[in-house]
Amino acid sequence: MGRVKDYINEIDRRGWHDATGRFVCAECVHEKFLSALVSSLAEKDTCDFCQRSEKQPIAAPFSALLLRLAEVAMKRYGDVDRV
Ligand SMILES: [Zn+2]
Repeated sequence: MGRVKDYINEIDRRGWHDATGRFVCAECVHEKFLSALVSSLAEKDTCDFCQRSEKQPIAAPFSALLLRLAEVAMKRYGDVDRV
């Protein structure tokens, strides 16, 4: 129960949640720094978006990509509750 409660608290803190559970590869992410992020976090050998598959991990959790995008947006535009 503690992990679920921690997850719910994390969702409340950041203001959004991902329910995808999908993995994305670097080739599906065209922005250079996000593509590098995906490569560094790759843990699955198949991309759920383009279905490309390799023998080594090529796909990172889509939630990790969303989290980084949210961090950048929050840094750039601030807290949306204050707009
Ligand atoms: Zn892909």
